[in-house]
Amino acid sequence: MILDSFNLSGKVAIVTGSNTGLGQGICLGLAEAGAKVAGVYRNTPGDTEKMITADGGEYLGIKADLVSIEPVQRIIDETIKKFGRVDILVNNAGIIRREDSINFTEKDWDDVLNTNLKTVFFLSQAAAKQFMKQGDGGKIINIASMLSFQGGIRVPSYTSSKSGIMGLTRLLACEWAKDNINVNAIAPGYMDTNNTEALRNDPKRSAEILGRIPADRWGIPEDVAGPAVFLASSAADYVNGYTLAVDGGWLAR
Ligand code: NAD
Repeated sequence: MILDSFNLSGKVAIVTGSNTGLGQGICLGLAEAGAKVAGVYRNTPGDTEKMITADGGEYLGIKADLVSIEPVQRIIDETIKKFGRVDILVNNAGIIRREDSINFTEKDWDDVLNTNLKTVFFLSQAAAKQFMKQGDGGKIINIASMLSFQGGIRVPSYTSSKSGIMGLTRLLACEWAKDNINVNAIAPGYMDTNNTEALRNDPKRSAEILGRIPADRWGIPEDVAGPAVFLASSAADYVNGYTLAVDGGWLAR
């Protein structure tokens, strides 16, 4: 039955940025589809564990600061120690810094590129090594952005990182498809999370953005859960290197 191919029972997922926003929505979606979830958080774990275990799911919180690649192997090792394997990696953790390009600092460049692109590459590499060791493939889902497709304003390091993510997704898909590793991305539109708080608090920008979204609303974390389950599942076995916009029609305008 076709719905069985979306079932993630027996699978183990690592999701970065699991404590809030889209990462939490993705954790809940994957857990509801049957996966055990290792959620990586930076400071406070949030209530993701409570929400998953209340529903009978299994969850492991891993504290790690992804601004450097130092914790990468530990994340894989702790997941294997608890759940025995890894099948799915969702590279969701990400930051944004807003400033006119003319005044943009090296720190705001490096922090964003390191978190959003460098660590994503090396965590993907570590997960892929584990998938290859297990011998039965795996799924990597990167969280891209509208700014993988568009320029944006006042977010030069963010646009560079998210444009890089779309290219990296294609490259890794090409290298690892033969190992049954699917690498794809989700490009969320304008979603109601911490990431867009500054935009939503600016009445002019907020109205401009909302007026351009065909769905006539900001997205919510639940909107990315279904696409994440699909890309994490065997229903997506022949989907490679694609960046799926989940944007209420923003890019279709
Ligand atoms: P958010 O700020 O609520 O979530 C960001 C997550 O990343 C948090 O869990 C945070 O703890 C984690 N994180 C940040 N820096 C980290 C670090 N150094 N180490 C470990 N974890 C770290 O915002 P969100 O909207 O849920 O963002 C999730 C992803 O979605 C990000 O990659 C973001 O760029 C992307 N995104 C968001 C939107 C949007 O409109 N909200 C649109 C496109 C893409």
